[in-house]
Amino acid sequence: MFSLQLFSANPNPFSHPKPYPRSKRTHVSSVLQWNRKPELAGETPRVVVITSGKGGVGKTTTTANVGLSLARLGFSVVAIDADVGLRNLDLLLGLESRVNYTVVEVLNGDCRLDQALVRDKRWSNFELLCISKPRSKLPIGFGGKALVWLVDALKAREGGSPDFIIIDCPAGIDAGFITAITPANEAVLVTTPDITSLRDADRVTGLLECDGIRDIKMIVNRVRTDMIKGEDMMSVLDVQEMLGLALLGVIPEDSEVIRSTNRGYPLVLNNPPTLAGLAFEQAAWRLVEQDSMKAVMAEEEPKKRGFFSFFGG
Ligand code: ADP
Ligand code: MG
Repeated sequence: MFSLQLFSANPNPFSHPKPYPRSKRTHVSSVLQWNRKPELAGETPRVVVITSGKGGVGKTTTTANVGLSLARLGFSVVAIDADVGLRNLDLLLGLESRVNYTVVEVLNGDCRLDQALVRDKRWSNFELLCISKPRSKLPIGFGGKALVWLVDALKAREGGSPDFIIIDCPAGIDAGFITAITPANEAVLVTTPDITSLRDADRVTGLLECDGIRDIKMIVNRVRTDMIKGEDMMSVLDVQEMLGLALLGVIPEDSEVIRSTNRGYPLVLNNPPTLAGLAFEQAAWRLVEQDSMKAVMAEEEPKKRGFFSFFGG
């Protein structure tokens, strides 16, 4: 029998040089207080597109949770909801009632860019920008060039350029996808461990590379160790071998994700933290430092044989 074990290429970012006192280990939240600030690698702003090919695999969940984790780590973040037809990042963030203007109004000259940026109530260094009103079509003429203009305008803002611009990409590989990836320098590919999602992820990887985006890391979402053990789900190692991409994070299947989606309160803000929330935070940490992790298969220790085993028990 084999089980899945995951190792970070770097030591655990949440670990502390001193051993953590046993008496405090029960509260996971207190582990987070040991954080050093991660070192921001690469040139800013880092323009990252969160993509997948297949829909419903967790792009918007990843954008909200990784985005807010980056803000909590002290970086300024602008999240752009480029999923025009099925805009829902505002809902996940609980900011839907505060979106008065979108990029369409900015381009029409009806408002300024800063009026379309919605500042998060909890983390003022996190801002949301929606392309258009929900259920509307991609505005005619709105393409990659318009998004590049937008990113340049964010860079040139009076208050200074943000550290991260994160783009939530629509599903599919048509015009909306091409638009969303155009201004990006790096990509986070979200996939679930199933064959349809993997095939789409592989196709998207090829398209990203054609567009000149070479820095592609993946997040494997909705992983169930019980199913992997029962050989009913592909392991993370299998996924990594099939896609050949650096691994940014592994997020377990967690009912808290759905609960937090419905409450408009991203999982990473939960106290005490949940497993999936911690996994998103660690992925954000690796994103900052341009680090990755490794998935390996480890053989399980054989079960210790009891006294009666001598008698064939
Ligand atoms: P996408 O943006 O790729 O279409 P979403 O982020 O909207 O996908 O997620 C689709 C659905 O899957 C949502 O209902 C979300 O709550 C759920 N989901 C995403 N990740 C997980 C997870 N790790 N565990 C449980 N449910 C998840
Ligand atoms: Mg989405």
